[in-house]
Amino acid sequence: MHMIYPIVAYGHPMLRLKAKKINQMDKNIVQVIQNMFSTMIQANGIGLAAPQIGKSIQLFIIDSRIFGEKKIFPKVFINPILKPNHTSKISDFEGCLSIPGIQAQVKRFKKITVQYQDIDGIKHESIFKDMPARVIQHEYDHLVGKLYIDDCKQSIWQKHQKILTHIQKGHVHVPYKMLFYKEAQHTSPLER
Ligand SMILES: [Zn+2]
Repeated sequence: MHMIYPIVAYGHPMLRLKAKKINQMDKNIVQVIQNMFSTMIQANGIGLAAPQIGKSIQLFIIDSRIFGEKKIFPKVFINPILKPNHTSKISDFEGCLSIPGIQAQVKRFKKITVQYQDIDGIKHESIFKDMPARVIQHEYDHLVGKLYIDDCKQSIWQKHQKILTHIQKGHVHVPYKMLFYKEAQHTSPLER
């Protein structure tokens, strides 16, 4: 039986923590990954980071189809380290399950090298570009307490301020369960 986790909403301090390294791959981690996969699919996401389900550990999953796979399975990244291959960045729209109702353009490195461990603890070093590179950079940011909107211009923040405040207050209607941090409701998103 897979469990569906509530997704931690924008405004919750969990999303601002630096995630801890995973030292040992065990049954628990495997179960968490399976549950995260069910949660991601149910929420119609293409990626999900552990802090988004309330676990501050260095783990994220991405829908295998992003990498050109025909079958859907979670591509697992544990203890990832990212390095840009060159400095060129490209801009494209992103969204986040923790920040529903908003999409904005973000600049990301076009090509990156990623060192990570898989579900069996085996180390890999791979190069990713374009869409996979973008999704990896988005999910990786969750592990260092960063959200994609952090890099957006003030005008984008102003444009979406109302929605951001609603999310903080828990006033959102999405087809998946969310976990809100209601105490954060008095903080303006402009005062980050
Ligand atoms: Zn996200």
